[in-house]
Amino acid sequence: MDCLFCRIIKGEIPSSLVYEDENIYAFRDIAPQAPVHILVVPKQHVSGINELDEVSSAIASKVLVVIRDLAKREGIAESGYRVVINTGKDGQQSVDHLHFHLLGGRTLEWPPG
Ligand code: 5GP
Repeated sequence: MDCLFCRIIKGEIPSSLVYEDENIYAFRDIAPQAPVHILVVPKQHVSGINELDEVSSAIASKVLVVIRDLAKREGIAESGYRVVINTGKDGQQSVDHLHFHLLGGRTLEWPPG
């Protein structure tokens, strides 16, 4: 399968790794939208939220714990941050491999565009 994030996880495409375990891979976004912009990705290929099953949703909940720890490590836990999962066409999802954006380090606007 020609999935960009699967290739990054396999190391075929270089990335700025910030965390890895058996199930999860996290790296800095190539086009950061905030001083901290990390993509936290389940290693198992799941296209998006619509395709979550029991196993992948259990890993997705572990992603939240990783995000909590990364936010602390990046120094944004106290000031605040945003976690985003873009889904489908209207959600502007551009990579069809489930990923959580961790954004912080500046005041984020609401509502998003
Ligand atoms: P989406 O638009 O699907 O929610 O998010 C995809 C994200 O992947 C975008 O923020 C984009 O900048 C990032 N991205 C796309 N290609 C690469 C890449 O090759 N390396 C890294 N680190 N990030 C990428």
